[in-house]
Amino acid sequence: MPPDVRGASGKGESPARCDECGTTLWVEPDRGAYPHPVVLPDSSAVDLFHPEEDGQRVGMTCSQECQRALEKRFMQRPFVRAELWACRLERALRARPEGLKPPELLEETGLTEAQMRAGFEWLDERRRRPSAE
Ligand SMILES: [Zn+2]
Repeated sequence: MPPDVRGASGKGESPARCDECGTTLWVEPDRGAYPHPVVLPDSSAVDLFHPEEDGQRVGMTCSQECQRALEKRFMQRPFVRAELWACRLERALRARPEGLKPPELLEETGLTEAQMRAGFEWLDERRRRPSAE
């Protein structure tokens, strides 16, 4: 199963919904809930076009209460660095289906050798794990 590389949740869907409570979000404030964006730490999020935003997911919420609740929920989730490195490896390998030699892979992902090894170990482990979904 490929990692989730959407970057932002709910993007492209219309209308947008609050990631916490599901309330419909409108761009015009007088129509109802105005979107409150929130940047969340997520080790499974890698961005195809903005690698500097790897490890972050932008959520949309309807209010400051939902913003805080969503932040709290994400703060409780483990941020697994090896997962982030694994997602970077997958992204680089997907972009170059002909394959990459380890030095090219390091260059492409900006990872150290130890991080690359940990990333591949994480992928191996995930392959062996029975799917949670
Ligand atoms: Zn909400």
